[in-house]
Amino acid sequence: MSSVARTARGCDCIPQYWGFWTAFPTSMQDTPRPRPNIPISIVRYSAIGGVMHIEDFAALGDHAAAGLAAVELALDAGARSSACGRIPIAGAAVARAADGRSRVICVGVNGRIPEDSGPGYPTDHGETGAIRQIADCRAVPWSEVVFATTLSPCIMCTRTLMHLHTLGLRRLVIAESESFGGRKDLLQSLPGMQIVELTHPPAVDMMQRFARTYPWDWAADIGEIPPSRLLVNLNAPALLTRLRALDATAGVFDENGRCVGHARDRRAETGDNPVQAAALVAIGNAGSAINLREHILVVDVADTLDLESFGASSLGACELFRPAALVAPGPVAPALRDPLEAVGVRIVTAAGS
Ligand SMILES: [Zn+2]
Repeated sequence: MSSVARTARGCDCIPQYWGFWTAFPTSMQDTPRPRPNIPISIVRYSAIGGVMHIEDFAALGDHAAAGLAAVELALDAGARSSACGRIPIAGAAVARAADGRSRVICVGVNGRIPEDSGPGYPTDHGETGAIRQIADCRAVPWSEVVFATTLSPCIMCTRTLMHLHTLGLRRLVIAESESFGGRKDLLQSLPGMQIVELTHPPAVDMMQRFARTYPWDWAADIGEIPPSRLLVNLNAPALLTRLRALDATAGVFDENGRCVGHARDRRAETGDNPVQAAALVAIGNAGSAINLREHILVVDVADTLDLESFGASSLGACELFRPAALVAPGPVAPALRDPLEAVGVRIVTAAGS
């Protein structure tokens, strides 16, 4: 059974401007955001107005201090992103060591709006961005870890955390769920998962201020920018040939057959780190300027494309960003095909089915 230490004030409420997001023209961009040259120093959580107490994390038992440390780290990182005009969402993992001390495993931030002048990495949400920092995922003592996120996880991050649950993760802190409900229902259903769900006013303010100021970025970050055109032509064998010429496992192609991002699968080299799955990385490498709903994701595997070969995080990324089509060389297993088709992703195999 999941335990919820503190229920948010509201339910999974969607902000009133949600409908506005979905009606937003694809061509419209937000006004240029300021990029002040702010030194990257830790903005203490208390400095943005709010105090948390160890008692808030009592549901985590011996791991309460690790939970507090994790959410402070995530909120600090989110506040720094906010100060730079970036999306203020972050994640952090902290482990409780045998001597009771806390050890930081990873901290990461949303990468849609990059720190530099690069193209952005849209599959880095706070959670996935943090997990991508881990060099060897199997070396992490997940049963001793508390993972914290500043905002309720989306389906991509939820599927990633569900994978970490298979490795032993049992503790999660969510700083706020008012700005975005996410799929915490799936997380709450995981056996043994303890969730401390806070409604932290500074975190809510930070999220909603960003959503009001940059609604296009906010909507794009959850795949809610509608496609400006429908995909008509799709030559699956030709796309697979082009992907193989790039020596890649997955690639994102535009309607003219041009690859805009590709990747090889690096899970075997990173202790089965779920965010190193080829499809998720290819979507990240395609950058923030493209709308995946106008593009084709091509994946090359030897046999049937199933949940294991595709990766749970890649499935979540496709459920969130919804490519117009997924091309595979052979059959696609129902466990993968069904959830993708449920969100409107067209499945095409090179054999023509
Ligand atoms: Zn997410």
